Amino acid sequence: MNQKRTILIATTNPGKRAELAEMLDFDIRWLTLADIENFTEIEEDGQTFAENARKKAAQYASQTGHWTIADDSGLSIDALDGQPGIHSARFSGTPQPHTNRSLIDHKNIEKVLQLMQNIEREKRTARFVCALCLASPQEVLAQTQGTLEGLITEKELGSGGFGYDPIFLIPHLNKTVAQLSPAEKNAISHRGNAIRKLKPLLAMLVGSSE
Ligand code: IMP
Repeated sequence: MNQKRTILIATTNPGKRAELAEMLDFDIRWLTLADIENFTEIEEDGQTFAENARKKAAQYASQTGHWTIADDSGLSIDALDGQPGIHSARFSGTPQPHTNRSLIDHKNIEKVLQLMQNIEREKRTARFVCALCLASPQEVLAQTQGTLEGLITEKELGSGGFGYDPIFLIPHLNKTVAQLSPAEKNAISHRGNAIRKLKPLLAMLVGSSE
């Protein structure tokens, strides 16, 4: 008896669902929060990416009764003591509801570039971090973290991606993440790396083979 397992992805973002479902290509019925009629939004008030991912996965799983995957991600800059970190999405201030996403990204980038003005190249090291957590309604089942190392540029370069991509340089490619194709980004990204680490754990948990 091999019943298809349902897993909720704790997002309303169809892009995240597509990315996870594509990479975790098991026989799973994927849901997102858009499929859940009534739920209470979980506050991301943890001190780390991992804490936020764990809190969201555990609490949405217990609210809905479904195994749940949640993520939290952001940019950590060494010269800024790890900032913007867990505050990456709202580094330039809490946006008004319905503010255009690219305007928020632009203001966040401006703030980073301004804070980094007098910092020399060798000290502009940074990493994108993505924490993922899978929980059942009873317990945390798996947690992974992926990173992508790079350097903060002095100006925006490239038009792809989102968030801090235009100021995040991959030194060995001599390109910012915003200059990569989506496939090139997925192959090296913090989110891709976290999902690749989760895959064998999920395979064991659902009893599938890769
Ligand atoms: P979330 O965890 O998807 O909500 O991401 C939090 C914030 O981190 C985003 O709003 C972006 O500012 C930043 N961020 C996360 N992942 C990326 C990425 O792949 N590229 C650029 N910025 C990112």
